[in-house]
Amino acid sequence: MTTATSPSESRSIRALAGRAIGAPLEPFEYQPAALGPNDVELEISHCGMCRSDLHLLDDDWKVTTYPFVPGHEIIGFVREMGSAVSHLQRGERVGVGWQSSACLDCDLCLSANDNVCLRQTATCVGRHGGYADRVRVDSRYAFALPKALDSARTAPLLCAGITVFAPLNRLKVGGQRLGVVGVGGLGHLALQYGRALGCEVTAFSTSRSKEAEARALGAGRFVATGEDGALRAAANSVDVLLVTASADIAWPEYLNTVRPTGTMCIVGLPTGDIRLPPLGVVEGQRTIAGSSIGSRSAMRTMLELSARHGVEAHVETFPMREANAAFDRLRGNQARYRIVLEN
Ligand code: NAP
Ligand code: ZN
Repeated sequence: MTTATSPSESRSIRALAGRAIGAPLEPFEYQPAALGPNDVELEISHCGMCRSDLHLLDDDWKVTTYPFVPGHEIIGFVREMGSAVSHLQRGERVGVGWQSSACLDCDLCLSANDNVCLRQTATCVGRHGGYADRVRVDSRYAFALPKALDSARTAPLLCAGITVFAPLNRLKVGGQRLGVVGVGGLGHLALQYGRALGCEVTAFSTSRSKEAEARALGAGRFVATGEDGALRAAANSVDVLLVTASADIAWPEYLNTVRPTGTMCIVGLPTGDIRLPPLGVVEGQRTIAGSSIGSRSAMRTMLELSARHGVEAHVETFPMREANAAFDRLRGNQARYRIVLEN
């Protein structure tokens, strides 16, 4: 039998926060809310740095409140447990991703689509995230991690990994021709899952600088999209195109790489609108799909498959206190391929 920590026993949490749009992160302390019956408090060892943290700091989606503590690729150890938590142990290592809760009761939740529950909350939207020493989260979105997985290389799986794995799993890409646009945090994992699922994988990257590594990660073919005519030459070459690019792209030219009846699945979140020629969609009977993180069930499958197939992020680690320098590297598209902050 476990007991909840009383609010009076709460110690303040030491975090890093941005106080205005695009501002550098500064030390910030806050008092956590009382531990609810389903909550756990984690001592954070690692937190991945997702491009979405930068979108939020810059308030690209008009949902950010300041002070803003980023961080939603969290690995931590359970230190406190609410009275209703029975599936985790004190001291256990768990991972937490973008999603922090769902109603768990609606038709979407009950059909393993809890990642699009209309009442979901996010780990660092309207709440303080993982660039911190500790965090309190709903235990139902804290996932026990297979022992084989290394913490630093696994943190990025909690958002980047699930975001690319879930649509590949849902679209049943096994054995098909898969294109991955953008070899960044999400994209370099998509290449690995594509290979693990038996796809013939093509990487679409803006320059040749990532070619050797993209091929080592699973791409049999590499298209340097910045080279004249490269996209045209790749017309009708993939069944599924997974777009992870974080900036606006020439959408019609990318759509054209999808074979008739194929699917362009968008997971990247550039700030501009997606403009596509109706003829390109209609004549080729192409499907335009979106995908948002993944359900709890997909998360479990992803972690288990990653352990079995050795899928892990290629990471650069930074001490948590150097998060601003790490953000600069991410902004400059210099990270190879995911930055992970360590306490
Ligand atoms: P990232 O590590 O910065 O990678 C993004 C990649 O996009 C870059 O490495 C680059 O790849 C490519 N890119 C950048 N500018 C480009 C341009 N102008 N034209 C074409 N390609 C360009 O970012 P990330 O963490 O992987 O996140 C990618 C996007 O997914 C972000 O917008 C993020 O917010 C979003 N996201 C969505 C979900 C979801 O649930 N759907 C979850 C997490 C993140 P190359 O160098 O290879 O060209
Ligand atoms: Zn993310």
